[in-house]
Amino acid sequence: MSADCLFCKIIAGEIPSTEVYSDDAVYAFRDINPQARVHVLVVPREHHEDAEALAGNPGLLSSVLKAGAEVARVEGVRESGFRFVFNTGDDACRTVFHAHLHVLGGEQLSGFGR
Ligand code: 5GP
Ligand code: ZN
Repeated sequence: MSADCLFCKIIAGEIPSTEVYSDDAVYAFRDINPQARVHVLVVPREHHEDAEALAGNPGLLSSVLKAGAEVARVEGVRESGFRFVFNTGDDACRTVFHAHLHVLGGEQLSGFGR
């Protein structure tokens, strides 16, 4: 746990969230400001600053991706399609410094980029 980290506080239950999936390695919850009908954040329970740092722990990265796939299944978007996003750095508008996978779907998504 990292002091002053929003997602560490959410994982610890100090800040309320709506759980979608949970296991020993990860916690998944609804984004407070959804950008699609389905918008869930999958976070490793262990604090890592961003996806690049998470890549140093391939087992944990794999757990995050597997949990994302499970989220897509339980949210009913596995067949219709979904998007995995890791924002890293300022140009990607990353705002929370605890690695998180966005799972987006449930409707036709727009193209991404600029
Ligand atoms: P980023 O921009 O860093 O990739 O994504 C951070 C995400 O966290 C944003 O989509 C934002 O809406 C979400 N978020 C920020 N604060 C909270 C919160 O307190 N609760 C929840 N559930 N989501 C949050
Ligand atoms: Zn954290």
